[in-house]
Amino acid sequence: MDSMRLPTLCLSLLFAFAGVLPAAETPAVSKAPDGLVVLTFDDSVASHATFVAPLLKQHGFGATFYITEGFEFLQDKEHYLTWEQIKAMHDAGFEVGNHTRAHKGVNSQKPAEIAADLEHIEKRCVEHGIPVPTTFSYPGYATSPAATVVLRERGYRFARAGGARVFDPAKDDPLTLPQAFDSKPDSTLEQFKAAIAQARDGKIAVLTFHGVPDIRHPWVNTDPGKFEAYLAVLKAAGCKVIAMRDLAPYLPPAKK
Ligand SMILES: [Zn+2]
Repeated sequence: MDSMRLPTLCLSLLFAFAGVLPAAETPAVSKAPDGLVVLTFDDSVASHATFVAPLLKQHGFGATFYITEGFEFLQDKEHYLTWEQIKAMHDAGFEVGNHTRAHKGVNSQKPAEIAADLEHIEKRCVEHGIPVPTTFSYPGYATSPAATVVLRERGYRFARAGGARVFDPAKDDPLTLPQAFDSKPDSTLEQFKAAIAQARDGKIAVLTFHGVPDIRHPWVNTDPGKFEAYLAVLKAAGCKVIAMRDLAPYLPPAKK
């Protein structure tokens, strides 16, 4: 090799590395901003379409609606969503997630049963022009290692369990992530504020609601007036309010 070619070769190598290394070394993860909140609504309650979704739209908030055909979903179309309403919420930009066919606790099911109950909702979504869900909430908050394996095999990215703390993407398994707030009839605005105040330093507040109101399940009812107050708190605090699927950029590479 003559002395004139050496610098050119070095430069070529330098550019080659410059092109490769930064992409390989830069972690493909964003730290969650302070005030990042995920809204989730379980159990396919009619008030999700008639009251919640329009109000969220007014506020510019995202959310995930976790759909089950359990309870009296198939018979009672006054208190439970229709699939047309679910499709309309998808069309409005909200996420439709999987809450299983029959709302059975996964800890009492075999893997094949869990898979079948997931697949039922997936197929119903596709039949109605809704993408196959990629996020899940555990019926009754019961988890099981087998369910987590099935969810992962079927391509699910996030699954919300119970609990009462913020989600830390650096430490928590996204397939058993905790909720920071679970709206009940006696929940207070102070508890709500305390939950969202924990959404900082890369941690995320995932909030659980059922019907607003929830006529059929009064033990998980949220009063509509109180719900409006919760949303006003989120707005005043400058929270970024998103659907569960929108958490993907905040997962560390090993958990993607
Ligand atoms: Zn449920």
